[in-house]
Amino acid sequence: MSHVRSSTLVRGTVQGVGFRPFVYRLATSLGLTGSVRNSPRGVIIELEGEPDVISAFLDRLVADAPALARISSLQTSHLAPAGLTQFEIADSAPGAQPTALIPPDVGLCRDCAREIEDPADRRHGYPFTNCTNCGPRFSIVVGIPYDRPQTTMAAFRICPDCESEYRSPADRRFHAEPIACPACGPHLFFDGRPAPDGLQKAAQLLSQGKLLAIKGLGGYHLACDARNPAAVEALRARKGRGQKPFAVMVRDLEEAGRVAILSPASQALLTSPESPVVIAPARPQGGLAPGIAPRQATVGIMLPYTPLHRLLLRRSPPALVMTSGNLAEEPIVHGDREARARLGPIADHILSHNREIAVPCDDSVVRCDGDLVIPVRRARGYVPRPIAVDFDGPPVLAVGGHHKSTFCLLRGGEAILSQHIGDLDSLEVLEYFGAAIAHFERLFETKPDIVAHDLHPGYLSTQYAQSLTDVRLVPVQHHHAHVVSVMAELGLHGPVIGVSYDGTGYGADGTIWGGEVLVADRKDFRRACHLLPVPLPGGEAAIKHPTRIALGYLIASLGPAEVDRAAADFLPALTPAERRIVIRQVARNLNSPPASSMGRLFDAVGALLGASPVATYEGQPAMELEAMAADVRDRTDPYPYNVDAYTIDPGPMIRQIISDLGQGVERSAIAARFHGTVAAFTGDVCKRIRESGGPADVVLSGGVMQNARLLSLLLETLAENGLRPHVHGEVPPNDGGVSLGQAVIAAARSES
Ligand SMILES: [Zn+2]
Ligand SMILES: [Zn+2]
Repeated sequence: MSHVRSSTLVRGTVQGVGFRPFVYRLATSLGLTGSVRNSPRGVIIELEGEPDVISAFLDRLVADAPALARISSLQTSHLAPAGLTQFEIADSAPGAQPTALIPPDVGLCRDCAREIEDPADRRHGYPFTNCTNCGPRFSIVVGIPYDRPQTTMAAFRICPDCESEYRSPADRRFHAEPIACPACGPHLFFDGRPAPDGLQKAAQLLSQGKLLAIKGLGGYHLACDARNPAAVEALRARKGRGQKPFAVMVRDLEEAGRVAILSPASQALLTSPESPVVIAPARPQGGLAPGIAPRQATVGIMLPYTPLHRLLLRRSPPALVMTSGNLAEEPIVHGDREARARLGPIADHILSHNREIAVPCDDSVVRCDGDLVIPVRRARGYVPRPIAVDFDGPPVLAVGGHHKSTFCLLRGGEAILSQHIGDLDSLEVLEYFGAAIAHFERLFETKPDIVAHDLHPGYLSTQYAQSLTDVRLVPVQHHHAHVVSVMAELGLHGPVIGVSYDGTGYGADGTIWGGEVLVADRKDFRRACHLLPVPLPGGEAAIKHPTRIALGYLIASLGPAEVDRAAADFLPALTPAERRIVIRQVARNLNSPPASSMGRLFDAVGALLGASPVATYEGQPAMELEAMAADVRDRTDPYPYNVDAYTIDPGPMIRQIISDLGQGVERSAIAARFHGTVAAFTGDVCKRIRESGGPADVVLSGGVMQNARLLSLLLETLAENGLRPHVHGEVPPNDGGVSLGQAVIAAARSES
């Protein structure tokens, strides 16, 4: 019966996830005494009791840990017994890093879901139910430390029932800062008036085909019945959305399986605490309106992740469009007055509530095809969870790029990537961007004097960085940043071969890059090989007109007589007059900068195969091209191409595609063979680099890597060539990940 005392340091994601109350309940149930507290290094548990009971405790600590906790290590040391008589939750040790304490917003947990559906429970039907394991976090935080007075829940005076749950270590709501109930918490509003029956009203109107603005967790959505073609078209028209696919919230997993083909990986993502939108292969007879995702073979779905959404979807049609409440690529609307002003003209009615959103946060998006998981947008559920970076240098702020803008704070071995903000197109968005940076600097108590930015002088993010005073600026090349964003996430130091394929990035030589194979480490890179530049008629404006890009490719690949014939046959959207103008423009080198962009090659081939002649969203022709190939399962021989020491020339492929089109070869077959060709020449290039003494590790990044068909072909081809391919885990390959790469490059350079 000899008592011992021990101290265990628990590291990993163990703070702000209900870990201390869990430890308390476990220790007291086993009759152990001692304490648990947060420290800068992790959670410290002191235990006194019999040795075998302590070891049973440590086993169950790992086995039964809360859903959101991730234990990475346990380190136990022995102390002299002190005759402790109780177990207590001690105050945090000073100096605890505040990042660890601000968790991301968490999707509705099973226990809370059960309570809102239990007529005997006091939270029955209550749309703002939450607990230690779920509910709003990051989006309601106004300051630190993460306590109720520093959240937008401070406006609600806690009732005695909630107070006693909040104070009781045995309760699931012990120290659940946003704790609420119908007696004391937030309430629904409908068209600006308190409305206890707001959900019923909303559900009924949605069933009738109306458009609603609905305030959720990180902002407002615009919603309509996803099976009602007229409602979907009306939403598209009023929002000015072009043809960009809409995300759909479905009632439950069963309904999800009705509209999409779900793999075990996609089911796990849908039901995870992060609850992202999952882009999965669409079921052809799924019943959704065709306007949900025009010319796509995929559909983006999510499950209800708040009690409000869950209660709504039980009454409404089983599938609702839930698209970010904004115009085009602007930040998501989150303020109530702003919602009335900006969404009022779009929506027929507004369902809202009086819990203020402090930090807007869009839905996260992940693409999932079989086992392949591709992060597309990292926001709600993930942010501000830090990404561990094996580097302990001075703090850095990185301001990212232009599209799908994010920023990144790097300090003390952690990278804190901001949520998706949107395209930095206007001074309004830029102002919002600056305010978001200031908020993060406050929350994470860091004000870096090293600021990394893109090389592009015209980006508003670059201009923002240059407007800061008393900082050291570190310009970073766009594709190098893409490559290092993967390296940082996976802990690679390089050198690696970095395949960085995207639409546009400012090259080190001032030209437009985007089809780049680099040899890189965290500090520097060499441009080992790239796609042969072709003229981009009309410059960046050509991106909206993929037929002009295609014509540029025809001019670069065919003789003059053939160009005109091929354009007339396969680019019917271009009038003869437009053709002549573009041909002359390129011949005279007027505003036709050369671009080595892989995204543009996809645009060109997409246009030749009949993709929409006008791109209404970034990457549209490429996405349509991938969809064309969706039904082709077999791998075919690649088209011919030329690869030399420095460049990839797809000219022979373009000529063969024109010939195939002339002979009436199926477009799906051409599209599939095109994807195979890109994988083949990339494999060739990487193999050559490897054989001339280069590295065997290949990292894949850039927006083109959101193409699941290309990515899985690349993974196969590279492995067949004896190389080790690496892809992103949680950070998007598109420009949403650039700020992470920038930050790590700036930090690595500051080392020497
Ligand atoms: Zn819960
Ligand atoms: Zn209450």
